[in-house]
Amino acid sequence: MHLLKLSTDITTVISERRFREVNVTRFQRSLRLLANLILWLISFIPVSCFAAVSNLDSSGFVVLTDIVPDAIIELRYHTLYNFVGDRIRGYEEPVALVTRETATALRSVNAELAPLGYTIKIFDAYRPQMAVDHFVEWAKNANDTRMKSYFYPEEQKANLFAHGYIASRSGHSRGSTVDLTLFDINNNCDVDMGGTFDYFGYRSYPSYPNITEQQKKNRLLLRSVMLKHGFRGIDTEWWHYTLNNEPYPTTYFNFPIQYLVR
Ligand SMILES: [Zn+2]
Repeated sequence: MHLLKLSTDITTVISERRFREVNVTRFQRSLRLLANLILWLISFIPVSCFAAVSNLDSSGFVVLTDIVPDAIIELRYHTLYNFVGDRIRGYEEPVALVTRETATALRSVNAELAPLGYTIKIFDAYRPQMAVDHFVEWAKNANDTRMKSYFYPEEQKANLFAHGYIASRSGHSRGSTVDLTLFDINNNCDVDMGGTFDYFGYRSYPSYPNITEQQKKNRLLLRSVMLKHGFRGIDTEWWHYTLNNEPYPTTYFNFPIQYLVR
């Protein structure tokens, strides 16, 4: 009897231990599976969710005309015809750079405009922080008013900061904002918006009332097509639009504007 009980007890102990070992092994395997699953899921989350992207990293940007070949590019800050009167720092080549997502959305915009006889004309796209710094330096120099009669005849240069025309940061540096107008393909000219790009004044407000009905319609057409394809406008400039789902909402890039070589 004793021997039998001892044997039964030993068997019980061994099987309990095995049961525990099997359970531990199963538990470990489950843990490993769970860890692998979490790692696999993490691999789908964009890196930008975890760490700020380097502001010198242009890998998320494209040359706009590579995606929208019929867009017209007139990069004003690469020329002398802008409110400063000089080529702006960082505009090394006359190329419009934007995030890939912005270019894709603008391709949809242009696909809708083409049957109407229009294409987009870009005045500015990605703007490096060094260019914004150039604007700020220029604004502090009260003596340089070379371009006043063209761009800010109604404003004192000393008020440009206070009135919000110049700021130390720009949404353009995040790469998903563009300044644009409509270009009439058949008549080979800009569409009449009742105002010109970078005019510092009330006339540039999208809602400015003292323009013709046709000019209002033209502003509205640009606005409705941009909004339809995921952009938002602002209250003070009829030409300025930002992609709603911009991929780098907190990164102010600072690499110079050049043709991207990959
Ligand atoms: Zn703008």
